[in-house]
Amino acid sequence: MRGEAREYNSPNQTGYLPVCYLRGRTMQMKILTISLSRKIKVNSFVKMMHASISVIAIIILVMPGSGLGWSSKDLLLFERVHQKAIENVLKNKVNSKDLKILQDQQVIVDNAQKAEQSFKHAMTGIKSGQQENIERPIFIQEANNFVKNNLNKAIDAFKDGHEQEAYEFLGKAIHTLQDGTSPAHNPFQTWSDDEGIVAIAVHLSKERIYPDDKSVRAKLEGVVQWAYDIFVKNVTLPDNYFDTDGQLLLPSTYLK
Ligand SMILES: [Zn+2]
Repeated sequence: MRGEAREYNSPNQTGYLPVCYLRGRTMQMKILTISLSRKIKVNSFVKMMHASISVIAIIILVMPGSGLGWSSKDLLLFERVHQKAIENVLKNKVNSKDLKILQDQQVIVDNAQKAEQSFKHAMTGIKSGQQENIERPIFIQEANNFVKNNLNKAIDAFKDGHEQEAYEFLGKAIHTLQDGTSPAHNPFQTWSDDEGIVAIAVHLSKERIYPDDKSVRAKLEGVVQWAYDIFVKNVTLPDNYFDTDGQLLLPSTYLK
């Protein structure tokens, strides 16, 4: 299957700037920060410059903020949207240890940011020379497979008494479903490895804080409940979670 690239295992992995581990791969920023912080032996003046550039970069990235959003990172001006929705829905249904496992998975999945891994974020990843209309159905199918496989594995692991693994798989499935409710992703919008800084800034601004819009919030939390109901077998496991246009197939009973 395409896109099964390595994921980082530590949920605490941190980078130098949000742009290094959010949905951004701006070469300009990476080259700038990596070269300043890793490749060159820095003196105190360069360190000071680096800190200033970091602050400026963060401000640039969040300035166009529209106030909708799904960040998973615990950063200045960003809310842990994925984790907050999970807590809102499941805090009285799972214990705190399992809740944390679910929440930690959000950071782990968000470390998979290559174009070919975009199905994990309900997006279409485009590499140079590829066409959106050809790639989109492939990524929708990959997302459907990813959610279904992880829910299946979660159910099986729980049945076999492997609680930690079960909640890790469930957390992965929840992530993709939640990203499918993001205005910056739905319905499987295109993402490429060559996105410019403006596109990244606009994208991040839509995903940085918990959504005010009631219908968006209902979907964001509704998919968490849906995945959990499938996991505990209140609902049978569907084959598909997104239709052929990339729209979520969340049953209307979850939209309150
Ligand atoms: Zn994501």
